[in-house]
Amino acid sequence: MAFDVEAVRAEFPILQRQVNGEPLVYLDSAASAQKPKAVIEAMTRAMEHSYANVHRGLHTLANETTEAYESARRAVAGFIGAGEDEVVFTKGGTEAINLVAAGLGARLGAGDEIVLTQMEHHANIVPWHFLRERLGVVLKFTPVTDAGELDLDAYRNLLGPRTRVVALSHMSNVLGTVNPVMDMTRMAHEAGALVLIDGCQSIVHQPVDVKAIDADFFVFSGHKLYGPTGIGILYGKAERLADLPPYQGGGEMIGEVALERITYADPPHRFEAGTPPILEAIGLGAAIGWLNGLDRRAAAEHEHRLYQRTIKGLSGANWLRIIGEAPGKGAILSFTMEGAHAHDVAQILDRYGVAVRAGTHCAEPLMKRFGVTSSARASFGLYNTEAEVDAFVEALNKTQAFFA
Ligand code: PMP
Repeated sequence: MAFDVEAVRAEFPILQRQVNGEPLVYLDSAASAQKPKAVIEAMTRAMEHSYANVHRGLHTLANETTEAYESARRAVAGFIGAGEDEVVFTKGGTEAINLVAAGLGARLGAGDEIVLTQMEHHANIVPWHFLRERLGVVLKFTPVTDAGELDLDAYRNLLGPRTRVVALSHMSNVLGTVNPVMDMTRMAHEAGALVLIDGCQSIVHQPVDVKAIDADFFVFSGHKLYGPTGIGILYGKAERLADLPPYQGGGEMIGEVALERITYADPPHRFEAGTPPILEAIGLGAAIGWLNGLDRRAAAEHEHRLYQRTIKGLSGANWLRIIGEAPGKGAILSFTMEGAHAHDVAQILDRYGVAVRAGTHCAEPLMKRFGVTSSARASFGLYNTEAEVDAFVEALNKTQAFFA
C-alpha cells in the first residue's frame, strides 16, 4: 500500500477551509488532530440511528449501543495488542494517568520514590505531585540532554530499592524525542518498580504493542489519534488492574451495593463509573478502523519526510533555535525565534493561514531545562503535505521579517 496524501486529505472536511483568506495549513496536530469522515459519520450514525445508554438495557437500541461500545473496546485492544479486559475507557490521557496515580497512591507512603523525567507533560507530573503533597512520596526526574534525549545513565542511577513507580512519556510533545521505553521498562522492573508509559504522542505515529513494551500501564487520548475529544485509554496488565482500587464510585462499577457494604465489578468496568463517553468511544473505534486501513509505516515515513523538508527549508535561518534534535525523533518542531515572543510568532503565522501552537506546551520543567519561557511548535499529521511545509517555511521567513 502506497501512501496517497491527497486521498487522505479528502477524508478530512476541515482541511478544505481557509483561514484569513489563505488555505489552512494545520500544524497543530500534537495538540489535537483533525477528524476524518469515518469518525464524524460513525458518531452521527450512532446518534441518528442507534443510540441509548449502555449495559443496562433490555431493548434493541441499548443492546446495539452496548455492542458498538464494546466493539470499540475490542478495536482499541487489537490496535495495541492488549486483552479486551485490559482496556479501560477514560475521558482522556490525563484522566487515565490520574486514575493510576490515585490507585497506586493507596499503596504508597512517605519516602517511597517515583521516577519521572524532565520532559513530561504536566499530565504526567501533577498527579504524582499530588502523592508527594499527600503522602510524602519523593519525586525524582531523569534529566534531559542538550539534544533532547533522556540521560539513561542518570536514569539507571535514580532507580533504587525505594523506587515504586516509573512514569515516562513514550514520545515528547515538545521535543519529538522517542524514548527507549522497552529498555527503560525492563530496568524499572529489575528495580521492582511498576511502569506507566504516557503514549499520548507515540500512539499517533508508530505501531504500539503494549505486550512487547511490557509496561504495567500505557495511556493515550483519542483526540490526537484522529478520534474525538472526551475519550482516552488506560491499558493495564490484567493483574495490575485487578490490584488497583476503583477511582470513582457510581453506577456500572459495582458488583453489589448494600447499605452496609459494597463489592466492585471486575476490570475494566470497575474503572468506568457512571455513563461512559459512549459516542466518543464509538468515534475512537472508527478512528482506529480508519487508521487500520492505511499503511501506517508509509504514513510515518511521509511525516518523517515532511519534518526533514522543514529542517532543510529552515537550514539557513540563523534566527531560529530548534529545541529537540534527538536522532529518530518524530515530526514535531519546537523552536524560538530571536527577538520574538512565541505567541507573536504564532499570531503572525496565523495571518498566513498557518496554525502552530505556542507557549509552554504544558511542560514547564522542560522549558526551564532549555532556558526558555515558551516556544512555538509545528507538529505534523499524516494529512500534511510538502506544499504545506513550503508554505510554513515561507510564512516563517515573512514572520521573521517583522522582527528583524
Ligand atoms: N501527555 C502528552 C505527552 C501529551 O502531549 C498530552 C496532550 N498534550 C497529554 C499527556 C494530555 O492529554 P489530554 O490533554 O488529551 O488528556
